[in-house]
Amino acid sequence: MSVSTLEIKVKKVEKSRINQLDPANIQFGKLYSDHMLVAHYEKGEWKQPEIIPFGNVSLSPATTFFHYGQAIFEGVKAYKDPQGNPLIFRPYDNWKRMNRSAVRMAMPELPEDIFVEGIRALVDLDRDWVPTSEGTSLYIRPFMVATDEFIGVKPAERFSFMIITSPAGPYYAKPVSIYVQDQYVRAFPGGIGFTKAAGNYGASMYPTMKIREMGYDQILWTDGFEHKYVQEIGTMNVFFVLGDKVLTPDTSDTILEGVSRDSVVTLLREKGMTVEERPISIDEIVAAYKAGELREAFGTGTAASIAPIADLTYQDNHMVLPQVETWEVANWLKKELSEIRYGRKADTHDWIYRV
Ligand SMILES: *Cc1c(COP(=O)(O)O)cnc(C)c1O
Repeated sequence: MSVSTLEIKVKKVEKSRINQLDPANIQFGKLYSDHMLVAHYEKGEWKQPEIIPFGNVSLSPATTFFHYGQAIFEGVKAYKDPQGNPLIFRPYDNWKRMNRSAVRMAMPELPEDIFVEGIRALVDLDRDWVPTSEGTSLYIRPFMVATDEFIGVKPAERFSFMIITSPAGPYYAKPVSIYVQDQYVRAFPGGIGFTKAAGNYGASMYPTMKIREMGYDQILWTDGFEHKYVQEIGTMNVFFVLGDKVLTPDTSDTILEGVSRDSVVTLLREKGMTVEERPISIDEIVAAYKAGELREAFGTGTAASIAPIADLTYQDNHMVLPQVETWEVANWLKKELSEIRYGRKADTHDWIYRV
């Protein structure tokens, strides 16, 4: 299917709920826009998608994903340019990643147009829901679940793909406090760590709850064999500035390949900085901290953009980073990414998809 042949049936709401949105106080994931997109997969093919009013879905209690977790998702954002036109950031990259997740989870791949044109049509219709002020955006959540009504354990044959959207403000109000996890594991080689499969997040809830009780915000996961090599944070990839070098773990099947991660690596290299993508041991970070060389550490992700790290705790090492205001790399990246996302700077990478 190509963009020109995709027909999306649209059933509009009778009355918009847009007056529930307070642009001065947008909380992440609290309010959903008027419409959603739904497409079903049956007998080996995707049916034409439909845009319908946002609302509850009715499913049999025997629906497979409730039981066996064939469920994957994506996270994309739309921003408004100074003229008020919505701009979608790198949706093709999310589409490709959604399909990598789908393959690993024995789910059908999505045609490009259902994903990309689906997002475009939905954002176009709900464009009033894309907030305008700096730091705000429309968070777009595409997802797919297995919908066979069958509680035997086997790969499903019916699936539903949906897209919902939600106005978003800043994700973290302040720099995050990180606990370096050396007991629980998020991902292991041969597993599903590289996918945005629902189960990855379910499995991280308990360890996250435990470290929150201790006063930390997020976990920096380490590898499953030695608990030595750092991997990523919650729903973010991780970067360290050591001296004049920027380090980030190389991606493998235990690390989610972030679109933000790729944007950051690209921008830094264009600026002439040295970025090393390689295994990074926590001992190297501790040694750099002790030598006074750990200048900055931050997470990158669609939801949080660039999230500075206030401190990192690994066993009995409590590493407090310098004041964020003094950070050159993270602050430059944040600004540069904003300029591109809000369409204030030329899009030289073809990252912007215009609605
Ligand atoms: C979504 C996610 C990221 C960040 O990916 P982006 O494409 O930059 O949003 C990183 N790690 C995990 C585990 C994630 O789920």
